[in-house]
Amino acid sequence: MTITDRAIASYLGLAIGDALGSTVEFMTPREIAVQYGTHANLIGGGWLHLKPGQVTDDTTMALALGESILAQGRVDALAAAQAFDAWMRAKPVDIGNTVRRNLLQFRKTGEPHAPYSDHDAGNGAAMRVLPVSLATLGQSEDAVRVACRAQAHVTHHCALSDAACETLVLMVQDALRGATKNDLLHQHAHPLAARHPEFKFRAVRQSQNPSGYVADTLQAVFQSFFDTDDFRGCLIDVVNRGGDADTTGAIAGMLAGALYGLEEMPEEWLKALDANTLRSCEGQARALIKLTGKS
Ligand code: MN
Ligand code: MN
Repeated sequence: MTITDRAIASYLGLAIGDALGSTVEFMTPREIAVQYGTHANLIGGGWLHLKPGQVTDDTTMALALGESILAQGRVDALAAAQAFDAWMRAKPVDIGNTVRRNLLQFRKTGEPHAPYSDHDAGNGAAMRVLPVSLATLGQSEDAVRVACRAQAHVTHHCALSDAACETLVLMVQDALRGATKNDLLHQHAHPLAARHPEFKFRAVRQSQNPSGYVADTLQAVFQSFFDTDDFRGCLIDVVNRGGDADTTGAIAGMLAGALYGLEEMPEEWLKALDANTLRSCEGQARALIKLTGKS
């Protein structure tokens, strides 16, 4: 499997997880079970009244960021802030509070780095990191971390958010290069939890109804990702936990897509995904990997 194939699978995984999870976003696992049994299809609906296969801010912010990286030839904070601002002006279907607040601040100041705040520990920067991972493949770990923070700090300037973003980006890069699930567990997930105990994810109780707090989100994603053995099983497991299900779905889909690759993507999900989104994700994945010369 080529790096480009895995990169495309990761981008499509992000979009599929977002579209699948958005149907049950803010529901509890019990409410999901009553209404759907097991939720496993891209049927739209949810609190945003989406069309089947439609995605939300998780995917559209990633695409906006990816376009800015391709236009600049690198990850640039000001270009990312301008891209997110244009995205917000185009009236997206949903937008997080921290994203909105700090983009409105950017409009006033022109300063693309939000002030530091431990309260801005939502998952809004982590959900859109994928284009950074693809664009910086092959760069030094330090350079990758700098690029992660440049995009993240436009809206989320917070140590826990940074730790999550950097871990996810480095995990995806290793998965693109063919790392196993076990490698990802021991080289990234456990070290993250060792540095920041908030991310410990092997609790006695399964993480249900995960909130938008980035540690809650990653606990659910890691439990599902490491406890399942295929793309479909991982995504179904994570979105049926409810809560911020479009975002857990998007992040889990990005990781599982990079790990398992294109052949594992369920045909019915690829067919159901919004066609324009599918084209944009595939095109960006190819272009971003081409930018690195690592295809
Ligand atoms: Mn969303
Ligand atoms: Mn969400």
